[in-house]
Amino acid sequence: IKNIGLFTSGGDAPGMNAAIRAVIRTALFHDVEVTGIRRGYEGMINGDFFPMGRRSVSNIMQRGGTILKTARSAQFRRPEGRQAAYEQVKKFNVDALIAIGGDGTFRGAKAFNEEFGIPVIGLPGTIDNDLVGTDFTIGYDTAINTVINAVDKIRDTAESHDRLFIVEVMGRDSGMIAWRTGMATGAEGIIIPDANIGVDKLFDRLENGRKNKTSRIVIVSECEGEEGGAFEIGRQVKEKFPHLDTRVSILGHIQRGGSPTCMDRVLACRLGAAAVEALLEGYKCDMAGIINNNVVFTPFERAIKHNSEIDPSLLRIVEMLSL
Ligand code: ATP
Repeated sequence: IKNIGLFTSGGDAPGMNAAIRAVIRTALFHDVEVTGIRRGYEGMINGDFFPMGRRSVSNIMQRGGTILKTARSAQFRRPEGRQAAYEQVKKFNVDALIAIGGDGTFRGAKAFNEEFGIPVIGLPGTIDNDLVGTDFTIGYDTAINTVINAVDKIRDTAESHDRLFIVEVMGRDSGMIAWRTGMATGAEGIIIPDANIGVDKLFDRLENGRKNKTSRIVIVSECEGEEGGAFEIGRQVKEKFPHLDTRVSILGHIQRGGSPTCMDRVLACRLGAAAVEALLEGYKCDMAGIINNNVVFTPFERAIKHNSEIDPSLLRIVEMLSL
């Protein structure tokens, strides 16, 4: 392998830049060139390729977002789009790819590898922490720290006004951000509709739980499911418990930004280096991940299986500690 094409795709996540840096520095160490591809699969189709050197990644480790930009590409979902991308890959003499993104990105990578035989290694870059084959994804630790900082601030005002706050956090179809931040902020309730953790428990708690609580925080995982998000839950709580002063807060995109934590930077460095060395060792269609603090490779086929299971014993602890 002489020239690795590198891109970020799907939702951005803090730590993507640290991963880009690790890939480039490791490749150069092994005398392999790196070609950056801007805006994920969209840039691949449009031929937005450029050579990257050691200096091109100076001073980016601590920056959120991705210097390579990211995009979602409808074209790449179709065989004609992938054919157009392959023409560009050939034109720029790229003979392997490293993709930083989430499960959608790996679905695309798997199709591309199957159709054209180009080896692709994936790095899990998503705040959602919802992939099989890694205990943590790059960006998750930063996102959950952003959430607990925000919720701590909300707790101050909730406490001062004796309010109940419904706080919506990200995680389209995964409650990974919700459960961990719920535990870390002492939330009185967690609602993760996709895991069937609905409003019933919260209602029961508000009806029969300790009455002299001065503030309450309920963490809700965003979703397009039946519960209808934080505003709908807030409406139901107000209707059923009119004596409570209930407010809704949507944390939104602040969860995707900011300087990556030490944990995310180290994860990105380790996985970025591992991805390059895996290509040199002959891996072709796998995601690099971390399990029990060891780097492991999982075929895309398995990595794209959604992992949103939450151990019920963890939720029990959340409940017990906030009684
Ligand atoms: P995140 O989890 O942060 O949203 P993601 O990688 O899952 O990241 P997606 O938008 O789902 O984000 O996927 C990124 C891109 O991968 C899509 O815009 C599309 O171009 C490509 N892609 C997704 N699924 C497929 C598929 N089944 N076949 C081909 N390409 C795909």
